[in-house]
Amino acid sequence: LGGSISRALQQMSNATVIDEKVLNECLNEITRALLQSDVQFKLVRDMQTNIKKIVNLDDLAAGHNKRKIIQQAIFNELCKMLDPGKPSFTPKKGKPSVVMFVGLQGSGKTTTCTKYAYYHQKKGWKPALVCADTFRAGAFDQLKQNATKAKIPFYGSYMESDPVKIAVEGVETFKKENCDLIIVDTSGRHKQEAALFEEMRQVSEATKPDLVIFVMDSSIGQAAFDQAQAFRQSVSVGAVIVTKMDGHAKGGGALSAVAATKSPVIFIGTGEHMDEFEVFDVKPFVSRLLGMGDWSGFMDKIHEVVPMDQQPELLQKLSEGNFTLRIMYEQFQNILKMGPISQVFSMLPGFSAELMPKGREKESQAKIKRYMTMMDSMTNEGNLTCLAELDSSNPKLINESRIMRIARGSGRQIKEVMEMFEEYKRLAKIWSKMKGLKIPKKGEMSAL
Ligand code: GDP
Ligand code: MG
Repeated sequence: LGGSISRALQQMSNATVIDEKVLNECLNEITRALLQSDVQFKLVRDMQTNIKKIVNLDDLAAGHNKRKIIQQAIFNELCKMLDPGKPSFTPKKGKPSVVMFVGLQGSGKTTTCTKYAYYHQKKGWKPALVCADTFRAGAFDQLKQNATKAKIPFYGSYMESDPVKIAVEGVETFKKENCDLIIVDTSGRHKQEAALFEEMRQVSEATKPDLVIFVMDSSIGQAAFDQAQAFRQSVSVGAVIVTKMDGHAKGGGALSAVAATKSPVIFIGTGEHMDEFEVFDVKPFVSRLLGMGDWSGFMDKIHEVVPMDQQPELLQKLSEGNFTLRIMYEQFQNILKMGPISQVFSMLPGFSAELMPKGREKESQAKIKRYMTMMDSMTNEGNLTCLAELDSSNPKLINESRIMRIARGSGRQIKEVMEMFEEYKRLAKIWSKMKGLKIPKKGEMSAL
């Protein structure tokens, strides 16, 4: 999606005159991209209408950056779509709350229940899990295993077949034990069936949950709206969790689920493991959906941590988009010093996270130092006919004989030098996305 939208905007900005026709073409392109990304048709159409209302070509004085205005309008519209206008009920630590999870089979309820419990437990809560799924064989075992791993108390039965009875017993048991977050996992069905919704209605009526969370698999696509609405009609859904955001899902379904339930997305699941769970934040999500990276957070971070006198230089280099080996060298120095700029880069998707994965800092530091040793063997000063190797931003210029020289000079293997250039290419790609970046002042809406 991000790709097609930025392409559409790019095409428009290449046009010398922006008239109705160019704008329409751009909007159609964006519409197509949003539909492909599983945003519901009606939402897309509404958004298109809104943007046309906001972006009035006649009112745009010449010299205004129309592309930016349209980009901003799309960004704002998508953010608005994800914000239902009212926050969800938030449980309070120390005060007993019942939270019921609903969703189709396989959407990730049981996994997400445990993640949700674990997340709160780490913050000092006393969560507990109740398995009210008597429909699927093995459901209780799965919950039990998860709960045991996370050391969270659980309740369930192999014998009892009435989900309402178990749910009520479980909730009562844990209320007596002063748990402050009692989580009820429910059963699903492969399809949206009347029996499922009736069961959800009954469990909800009996346990009186403070919050019902609808769990949705991000890959269900266009079905998201109907599915979310069907659940909302039987229980009062108060929040949404979108799972499997680590896969190839396009994320647009989340917008539809919010529209259908009028409830906010509160977390996303990003993997099968207990801690692959993130608080959902609208702006960065939309930035990512539009392929813009987390610019808002990124800019704020620059203003926050980079010393004032270094900001202009860094931003200048960023906006040039030209990532030379010398810049890479400087960034490596920063990362090793854990200087302020390394904090900034840790926010760029793929920059530090992959260079220096959590838990493997030592290994990664050694790798970075190795790369730097190799770069020490590259030419540092250029002449009239030839750039210094370090100032090159085209690794193709570094031919075989140079690679051999660098390997020899640094006492490393050719394979390692090649690996360093691969890393360089990867980082250069990320860096180049910032080309042409307009540098907003602190406090300005900076996601674009
Ligand atoms: P339930 O039927 O709704 O309770 O769904 P489960 O919790 O049993 O999950 C179904 C499958 O999805 C399991 O294999 C989970 O490991 C997997 N799953 C759940 N959440 C995620 C996620 O965020 N990412 C990935 N990759 N897999 C997930
Ligand atoms: Mg389950």
